[in-house]
Amino acid sequence: MTDIEKSIEKALIASKPLNCELCGERVYYLDGGQYQCRKCGNIMLDDFGKVKAYIDKNGPSPAMAISSATGVSTEVIEVFLRKGRLEIPEGSRYYVKCERCHCSIRYGRFCPDCVKDTAVEIKAVFADEVGEKPKYEWNPDMAGRIRFVDRRWKK
Ligand SMILES: [Zn+2]
Ligand SMILES: [Zn+2]
Repeated sequence: MTDIEKSIEKALIASKPLNCELCGERVYYLDGGQYQCRKCGNIMLDDFGKVKAYIDKNGPSPAMAISSATGVSTEVIEVFLRKGRLEIPEGSRYYVKCERCHCSIRYGRFCPDCVKDTAVEIKAVFADEVGEKPKYEWNPDMAGRIRFVDRRWKK
């Protein structure tokens, strides 16, 4: 992890609510960045939850628009992409880079080729850190749009 990723990780942890903003009771984690108060049932969101709620409501949106509406920095949105919790649709101008060969991938940390080439070296890598290469080059209609693929969210 780079220093910037560490500081973002810290900011993410700091964004997780501990107590209800209405009654002060402890909240517990539901799923997808949502927390619920034990006492009054109030739902609170961390940064991931805020970004997810925005996209659920407004559909795939440019990272800058998500950032200005939610107050979550584009760097943090980038980290969600890295963790494979957000996916860049085909044709986007904005991809994440494979950490080994720097080719474009749609989510995760490594492209499928590098995982094959370095199977031993990075055998400890979690499956969801392996991304997918874009099949099409960028086309202007889809510039910068991202959407969630966190299927665990859908019950
Ligand atoms: Zn409460
Ligand atoms: Zn690669």
